[in-house]
Amino acid sequence: MRVQILSLNDEKIRFILSGVTTALANALRRTIISEVPCMAIDDMFVFDNSSVIHDEVLAHRIGLVPIKTDLDRYVLPEDCECGSELGCEKCRVVLTLDVEAETDARIILSGDFVSEDPEVVPVSPDIPLTKVTTGQAVRVEAYARLGQGKIHAKWQPVSSATYQHVAEIDVDEERCTACGECVKSCPKDVFTIKEGKLRIVDVNSCILCGECVKACPVDPTAVTQAAKPDSYLFTVESTGCLPPERLVFEAGKILVAKLDEFSEKIEKGETDDIIAGFEPVEQQARGLYSVGSGDLDDDEEEEDEEP
Ligand SMILES: [Zn+2]
Repeated sequence: MRVQILSLNDEKIRFILSGVTTALANALRRTIISEVPCMAIDDMFVFDNSSVIHDEVLAHRIGLVPIKTDLDRYVLPEDCECGSELGCEKCRVVLTLDVEAETDARIILSGDFVSEDPEVVPVSPDIPLTKVTTGQAVRVEAYARLGQGKIHAKWQPVSSATYQHVAEIDVDEERCTACGECVKSCPKDVFTIKEGKLRIVDVNSCILCGECVKACPVDPTAVTQAAKPDSYLFTVESTGCLPPERLVFEAGKILVAKLDEFSEKIEKGETDDIIAGFEPVEQQARGLYSVGSGDLDDDEEEEDEEP
């Protein structure tokens, strides 16, 4: 397996993963989205909310605010020794919001939150939460915790994590007349004409649409395009909670830990056991988002009873 980083900044990483199967590339993508933990506000007490937005809608908006995460200092609540429902300093961070519009109406922003940990704050201070007018106030105590995207989308650490095939483009220089038709037809500006010859500017921007091959008036085999069978171009964009390269690294660690456990179980012949992390997601894990699955079952039973 080989990793070649094409670009990296605070928000986004682009890299080519080669020497792997599609299954592994997809496992990595899915792990980044649904298993790498990040911080999000999970519980909150509303002491005062005279704004126009209802408590539950405000709570939903606040829950979706991306929060800067420190994976080295905090643990998932289910892995914490404290076992407390409200958590301890290792598994939660308290953020408070205390805003009153004294003279003019104002918008309450994510930056109005005061965190007990200066490292664990909203990624952007400019996210509007609600609006208050003279005399109105919002007073909230919120608990941010680590969680995983498979439980709720607010714990998804990425705004996008995708992969695509890496293209291989061959130009037969003897037959190519450098007429420039493929340069015009390419939607991604992969080609250019330089010194009377067709040149490839950036093969990694090719999306394998085949327009260049179709446009060639000389000979359809003068330019050929194919997908490399074992190479994938990843684009991972973080919400800002963690650096993008850290997300990929953490996903790799999670995959390796799962596979280690899996192979250990096979060696011991314990293949009927439930393997941690492979078990179906319990929506009720945190108690908060159990949208009454039990009630639904009851309704069904009642319907069954009525002839
Ligand atoms: Zn704890």
